[in-house]
Amino acid sequence: MEEGTRNEVARNEGRYGNWGRFPNPPQRAVRLNWPDDELPKGKILAFGNGRSQGDVCLNSQGVLVDMRGLNRLVKFDRSKGLLTAEAGITLDEILRVVVPTGWMLPVVPGTRFVTLGGAIANDVHGKNHHRAGSFGHHVTALTLRRSDGTVKVCKAGDAWFAATVGGLGLTGIIAQATVQLMPVLSGLMQRRIVPLRGLEDFFSTMEGPAQGWDYSVAWLDMTAPEKELGRGYLELARWDEMGGPLNPPPPVRLQVPVRLPFSAVNALTTRVFNELWLRRPRAAYAQVDYSSFFWPLDGVGHWTNLYGPVPFVQCQVVVPQAGAPRLVAQILRLARAGGEPSFLNTLKMMGGMAPAGMLSFPREGVALALDFPYKGERTLAMLRAIEDVAMANGGAIYPAKDACMRPESFAQAYPAWKDFLKYKDDNMTSDFWQRVMGGKA
Ligand SMILES: Cc1cc2nc3c(=O)[nH]c(=O)nc-3n(C[C@H](O)[C@H](O)[C@H](O)COP(=O)(O)OP(=O)(O)OC[C@H]3O[C@@H](n4cnc5c(N)ncnc54)[C@H](O)[C@@H]3O)c2cc1C
Repeated sequence: MEEGTRNEVARNEGRYGNWGRFPNPPQRAVRLNWPDDELPKGKILAFGNGRSQGDVCLNSQGVLVDMRGLNRLVKFDRSKGLLTAEAGITLDEILRVVVPTGWMLPVVPGTRFVTLGGAIANDVHGKNHHRAGSFGHHVTALTLRRSDGTVKVCKAGDAWFAATVGGLGLTGIIAQATVQLMPVLSGLMQRRIVPLRGLEDFFSTMEGPAQGWDYSVAWLDMTAPEKELGRGYLELARWDEMGGPLNPPPPVRLQVPVRLPFSAVNALTTRVFNELWLRRPRAAYAQVDYSSFFWPLDGVGHWTNLYGPVPFVQCQVVVPQAGAPRLVAQILRLARAGGEPSFLNTLKMMGGMAPAGMLSFPREGVALALDFPYKGERTLAMLRAIEDVAMANGGAIYPAKDACMRPESFAQAYPAWKDFLKYKDDNMTSDFWQRVMGGKA
């Protein structure tokens, strides 16, 4: 079937999957190209750009509704920084328009290739959660298409809005949304690098010198010996207020065009990567372009092809601040004991702002993200052990990066789920929802 025809049923050519390729069941999809295109019948789920890691963007029992054809700007008020766009637009596409005019998205995740709808449905967070909250805190209104044909205009503060922000795509299809942007004087940032000899350095820096900085993230080296557990470096940044170029994000220049027949990511290459990247000498203070600070991984297109045929799983867990040094250490040890060293590991402080959505993941505490090659039962056992630590200590697992959280853990960490059912669309589901509801959804 030709691209661009209304409601084409797409073949599963790899586009309709998640980022890590685990799990990877075949998917059927219908692409919307116009706001009034009919929604398919049966059990449906919006699909953004597949940048989620687990099964939150999969719908094996029904049909995915591919939103990427709905990527138009609807309105941009440059005097107020209010932008309305269709939900299939990516943050990259938004930034190309707004940054040259002196506006910026106030919250961005670690890749700019997510859609506006996906950013809202997972209520994504960035390196400034402690200052700015999550993406949903900056959305002022959204339009929701329900499977029965009704359309709801939801405003920040109302219950439908709170159910849809972080609502995992289950309250309806977000057709368009309005975001309040933040003004910037330039695309330049002041960046400070603090080497971390271990976890204590992270916590003491966050409590002390990091306080004056708007953005922070630590990159951890999981190949470090036990006595240096949590070794790595902490990146702190704030906008440069002196003025300067307002460039759109750069095009992706490097590509890994084909999937390698073997995995280039293993214990040895992780060690080499850590030596070259994590331990590379960096200036303690530097002026850097915002794209290189926010999205170091976006510079190489299709970089997960380096993983070869091995799927990857991520795990992002937040634990309460009280006890965080002990809990983070415990989780890092479990991850190390799991076999393959985790390749990309970040540690972030999360702020205490009330969550924007009923099922939002971002909450006060310390968030640790790890990713692993999926090696079957051994990997699952390790992820379950990490989940147990989080659950026994009042933590939570991030649905956007989860492929195996148990129903009881979801119910505990997201206690508003019962209330949420009032807003859930009966004809919408996902593999994630089927799993955490124990197949009862
Ligand atoms: C390299 C990398 C770095 C990342 N860094 C971060 C980070 O720092 N912080 C963070 O929070 N996340 C991060 N993520 C996760 C990512 O931001 C989220 O998974 C995001 O939701 C993906 O958006 P997407 O458009 O690809 O949506 P998809 O993955 O396709 O879908 C995600 C969810 O959104 C729903 N959805 C999509 N569009 C709509 C719509 N129009 N209406 C209703 N529901 C919709 C889907 O049904 C699904 O439930 C990262 C992911 C990657 C690959």
